[in-house]
Amino acid sequence: MTAQEPGSATANRGEPLVVLSNVQKHFGQLHALKDIELTVKRGEVVVVIGPSGSGKSTLCRTINRLETTDEGTITLDGQPLPQEGKALAALRAEVGMVFQSFNLFAHKTILENVTLGPIKVRGMGKAEAEKKARELLDRVGVGHQADKYPAQLSGGQQQRVAIARALAMEPKVMLFDEPTSALDPEMIKEVLDVMVDLAEQGMTMIVVTHEMGFARTAADRVIFMADGAIVEENTPEEFFTNPSSDRAKDFLGKIL
Ligand code: ADP
Ligand code: MG
Repeated sequence: MTAQEPGSATANRGEPLVVLSNVQKHFGQLHALKDIELTVKRGEVVVVIGPSGSGKSTLCRTINRLETTDEGTITLDGQPLPQEGKALAALRAEVGMVFQSFNLFAHKTILENVTLGPIKVRGMGKAEAEKKARELLDRVGVGHQADKYPAQLSGGQQQRVAIARALAMEPKVMLFDEPTSALDPEMIKEVLDVMVDLAEQGMTMIVVTHEMGFARTAADRVIFMADGAIVEENTPEEFFTNPSSDRAKDFLGKIL
C-alpha cells in the first residue's frame, strides 16, 4: 500500500471519518450506551478500554450497524449509516471488523476466505481477487498457508487471516474488538505486530483492547468507558500515568 494514493486509507488524513453524536442504546431496561459523543479522524488510532459490560462491544457493533441505536446519529465519511439493503452491505464492506473469535469460514480455504468478499460484494474478478488476497496474506505473514483450511492454522494465524480478509474490502476504518483475548500468550504479539504495522500505514482504527503495550505504541487517543458512557479520553501517556477519574484509576489498578 502506498501512502499517498488518492482514495487510500491515508488520503485526507485528519478529517472526521467516524462521528457519533448523542448516541443512545438500550437493551430493555439497560442503558448500554449513554450519550456517546465520539469523533474519529481519518488516520487516527483510538483504543477503547474499560471493564467488562461497559459497552465497548456495543459501541463497535453500532458503527457497522450490527446493532441499531435508539437515538443520535452516526456518520461514516459524512454519510449517515444506511439502514438496510445493498447500502448496508456496502457499509459493512467499508467498516472492517475483527472479533475476538476469528469467524473464518471453516469450509473454505484461507485464500477463499479472503477473496469471497471482494468477489461477491465488490464484484472483483477471481484472478484479481486472488492476486490481492495473496499480497495481503503475505503482508500479515501467512502467505504460505493460503491453500489450507482455518482449522489447520494456529489461533494467531487465523486472526491474521481475519485481518487480511477485512483489509481485502479496502475498508475506510477497521474495528477490532478484543482481537487478542482468545489467543495463547505467545500468539498475541504476532497479531499486535500486524495491527501496529497497519496503524503506521495510516489506517483509521478503533481498537478495543487491554493490551497497554499496543495502546502506548500505536494509539493516538485512549477512551475509557464505564457503565455505557465515555468517562475519560486522553493520550495514552496521560491516561496510563495520570488517569483523572476514580473509575479509571480503579480499573487500571486491577489490570496493570
Ligand atoms: P463490553 O464489550 O464492554 O464487555 P458489551 O457492549 O458487550 O460490553 O455489553 C454492554 C452491556 O449490554 C452489558 O451489560 C451486556 O450484558 C449488555 N448487552 C450487550 N448485548 C446485549 C444484547 N444483545 N441483549 C441484551 N443485553 C446486551
Ligand atoms: Mg466486549
